[in-house]
Amino acid sequence: MILIQKIQKKVNKNLIDILKNIFTPPLCVICGKIDAGLLCEECISKIKEIEDSICDCCGRPLLENKINDRKNTEKGCNFCKNEDFNFYKHRSFTIYSGGIKKVIKKYKYNKIYDLKEIISIFLLHAYVKYYKNEKIDYLETVPGIHMNMICESLSELIKIPFAGNISRIKKITKQQGLDFAQRRNNIKGAFKVKNCLLYYGKNVLVVDDVWTTGSTMMEIAGVLKKAGANKIYLLTLTRGIQ
Ligand SMILES: [Zn+2]
Ligand SMILES: [Zn+2]
Repeated sequence: MILIQKIQKKVNKNLIDILKNIFTPPLCVICGKIDAGLLCEECISKIKEIEDSICDCCGRPLLENKINDRKNTEKGCNFCKNEDFNFYKHRSFTIYSGGIKKVIKKYKYNKIYDLKEIISIFLLHAYVKYYKNEKIDYLETVPGIHMNMICESLSELIKIPFAGNISRIKKITKQQGLDFAQRRNNIKGAFKVKNCLLYYGKNVLVVDDVWTTGSTMMEIAGVLKKAGANKIYLLTLTRGIQ
């Protein structure tokens, strides 16, 4: 009897899904064409990975031979060579422009949470490209439901446990429209580690969706460093060109 109920439940669910699809078929979140995968092949092909020429430290694309010449020095590019970062490296999957902006918007604001699978595959791609040979003990992120879901999904793909060991202790006013110094000030003291012992001597990969000035990621990296973490790697889905 229980089995029949289970099957009936499944059939009903499938039927509901089928009906739902007839009336509101899944669409590509970028171009709006009907596509079961939420992103059509054409739109995926337009999302370009960041090219190989990047700063070894901050991951900034190097535009060599262009007006604002950026070169790798022994201590990073000429934007970061004088910085004393508390992270070891930062890498991004793609530049924050075009279709990927829509993907993030639909995921975060329109709550199309099924996009987490696609986003985590993009992150997996960057992880394999840049960090596959590094010894990383934990995944971490900026606390919040959106990034937690992505990290859980990424954790399954790369087989590194997602710690979720950071909590927000201060309400952060909007970072938009603020310059780097204002952002850093705004975010200062916003996070704390839950279990202080977890990161001691460990290497941690911190993941986020968008890198604008890096102020949030740097604040998290600082909290991890204080908790005794060894190397801190940063990985973002997208970053600005600057
Ligand atoms: Zn499309
Ligand atoms: Zn750099």
